[in-house]
Amino acid sequence: MLLAHNYQRPEIQDAAHFVGDSLELSLKAVEVGAEVVVFAGVDFMAEQAAILNPGKVVLHPEPLSKCPMAAMLTPEVARRYREKHPGAPFIVYVNSSARVKALADYVVTSANAAALVSQLDADTVLFGPDRHLAEYVAEKTGKTVIPVPGFGHCPVHLAITRSDLERAKREHPGAKVLVHPECTRDVRALADFIGSTSQMLRAARELGARKYVVATEVGLVHRLSMLGFEAYPASPYGVCPDMKKITLDSVVRAVLERRGVVRVDPRVAERARKAIENTFELLGVSVPWRRS
Ligand code: SF4
Repeated sequence: MLLAHNYQRPEIQDAAHFVGDSLELSLKAVEVGAEVVVFAGVDFMAEQAAILNPGKVVLHPEPLSKCPMAAMLTPEVARRYREKHPGAPFIVYVNSSARVKALADYVVTSANAAALVSQLDADTVLFGPDRHLAEYVAEKTGKTVIPVPGFGHCPVHLAITRSDLERAKREHPGAKVLVHPECTRDVRALADFIGSTSQMLRAARELGARKYVVATEVGLVHRLSMLGFEAYPASPYGVCPDMKKITLDSVVRAVLERRGVVRVDPRVAERARKAIENTFELLGVSVPWRRS
């Protein structure tokens, strides 16, 4: 089964059995009976699919496709922050390595981060690795959210500036603006809707517009176009080079040669899976792999 993230090249999205965000795709792998899963996305996504699908073979077609934001939070830094703030729950964004997830109390997506933090019985929390998402969660919940580390960011979303977005709005009058919370606060301030990629797709249907300007990686423009919307990137610089390292050729080679088998230390996988389960449980959602 070929799973493709929303930021993959259009031809890979078109070839995939399922296209979606990272957690959505890992859960899809849980639901469907395929023994071999090819994950077209960056390293932490394939790793997470392996964590949630221990009985399946997960192939990552391009080992050099690595998320620089996930690499900004190492286990050593995570441990240091935990020692410095012993009473604060440690929440990590899904965009982090398995070793970091294994040190967390909760693993969240951009779609459920604010809901999870608002449910916690704590006024101060640690959140990593994206400081812009941490700031957005603080705005939504009124809690103190300490970014771990202080500089964590997605270079792709940081490259989308307010002036880029203002220009795109002028060029496409009448378009509604969808913004990912990894963008800076001044870009978020221009949004008609802020949310994860899957929430943006849902919002496009609900907002009732035909035309959208999208402040996230350009891959989502293809996704929206395939759903029949007119979609435009907020900035020509919103391109993730790591997502684009995966090509159709590398996908085919991975399948034919069984290349890029993802392996996660079982003890690390178990602790990371527990932190993901903690989030489902606190949000009152049944844990999908316990159902399957
Ligand atoms: S878009 Fe940003 S967060 Fe997503 S994989 Fe690329 S660098 Fe990482």
